[in-house]
Amino acid sequence: MEKRSIQFIDLKAQQARIREQIETRLRKVLDHGQYIMGPEVRELEAKLGEYAGVKHCITCASGTDALLMPLVAWGIGPGDAVITTPFTFISTAEVVALLGATPLFADIDPLTYNLDPAQLEKVLHSERVKKNGLKVKGIIPVDLFGQPADYDEIEQFARQNGLWVLEDAAQAFGAEYNGHKTCSFGDVAATSFFPAKPFGCYGDGGAIFTNDDALAEKLRSIRVHGQGSDKYDNVRIGINGRFDTLQAAVLLAKLELFDEEIALRNAVAARYSKALNGKFVAPAVKKDRSSVWAQYSILSEDRAGELARLKDLGIPTAIYYPKPLHLQDAFRYLGYSAGDFPATEHCAARIFSIPMHPYLEEAEQAYIIRGLLG
Ligand SMILES: *Cc1c(COP(=O)(O)O)cnc(C)c1O
Repeated sequence: MEKRSIQFIDLKAQQARIREQIETRLRKVLDHGQYIMGPEVRELEAKLGEYAGVKHCITCASGTDALLMPLVAWGIGPGDAVITTPFTFISTAEVVALLGATPLFADIDPLTYNLDPAQLEKVLHSERVKKNGLKVKGIIPVDLFGQPADYDEIEQFARQNGLWVLEDAAQAFGAEYNGHKTCSFGDVAATSFFPAKPFGCYGDGGAIFTNDDALAEKLRSIRVHGQGSDKYDNVRIGINGRFDTLQAAVLLAKLELFDEEIALRNAVAARYSKALNGKFVAPAVKKDRSSVWAQYSILSEDRAGELARLKDLGIPTAIYYPKPLHLQDAFRYLGYSAGDFPATEHCAARIFSIPMHPYLEEAEQAYIIRGLLG
C-alpha cells in the first residue's frame, strides 16, 4: 500500500469551510473590544441552552471548571464522596479530590465502557464508605467517547438514594438519549470546548447546563470569584472561570456546521463498523441513543503490535485511556489496587483509537481499514 498522510482529527478541513465566518466574527470582537464576557458569550449561552433544551447555559474557562463549579456550589468537601467511573479523563475525579472529597469508583459496562448502573448499589454500601464514614453525595457519569451514559437507571438510583447527578458530557455535546440532547441529564451537566472535542473552540473552554434557577445564579457568581451585586462584592468563594469572547465567536461560527458534522461522524463510524465486521469492535451504541463519536475506539489482544504496524503505514492512533484512574499515582492514597475493576482494566489494556473526524474521506478510511485487517 502507498503510504498516506492521515490526520487523527482534522481541524484544518473544518476551518477551510468556515474560515470566512470565523474571521468575520473575530473581527467584530476586535472592533467592540469586550474580550471578557462580551456579547458573543451571551449569544452563545442562549444558543447552546436552546440547543441542549436546557434553561441555563453558563460558559466557563474549561471542561474541568465546568465539573468543578457545581461541586463548589453544592459545598462538596472533606467527608463527602462522589461515585464515578475509573475509565475516563483525570478531570472527572480530580475535581472531587481537589475539594478534599473522596472519589468512589464503580466499574464500567463491558459493552459501552460507560459507568455500569448495576455497580452503584454495591459501591454506595461498600466497606470503603462505612470504614471512612463517608457521606455519598452524588454521581458523575461520563458520556464516554460521545455516547450518553445510562441516565434512566442512574437518575432513578440517585433519586432513591438522595444523590445528585452531574453529567460529564465533555466528549458528547450533541449526542441524544431517549430523544433528549446530552447536557440535559442529571441535575447539572458539564461539557468541554477543548479543540479536539466534537464541539471545540481554538483554546480552552467549557459550559455548564442546568434547569435549576438558584443553582445557575450561584454558578454565575462562582465563575467570577463568588461575586455578589457587583465586581467588588464577594459573597462566596469562587474562581476565575470565565470564557473568552474570542472563543465564543469561534464556536458561534462552528455551531452552524455542527449538526452536519455529527451526521458525517456517524457516517464515518458506520463505515468503520461495517468494514471491521466484528474483527475489531467499537463500544456498542444502545438503541435508545446516539453517539457523536468523539473517538472511534477498538480493542486488540496485541495492541503494541497493532499500533506499530499502523504507525508504519502512516495511520495515527491514540490510547484513551492506558491507565485507569484507580491505578494512577495521583489516586494512590485512595487505596485501590489492580483487579478492583475488571471491565475497566480489560479495556485499558487493549483499547486504542483510530482516526475519527467529519472530514475523513472514504479513500482514507479504506486505507485505514486495509491497514487494520492487514
Ligand atoms: C476533556 C475532558 C474533560 C476536561 O475538559 P477540559 O476542557 O480539558 O478541562 C473532562 N472530562 C472528560 C470525560 C473529558 O474528556
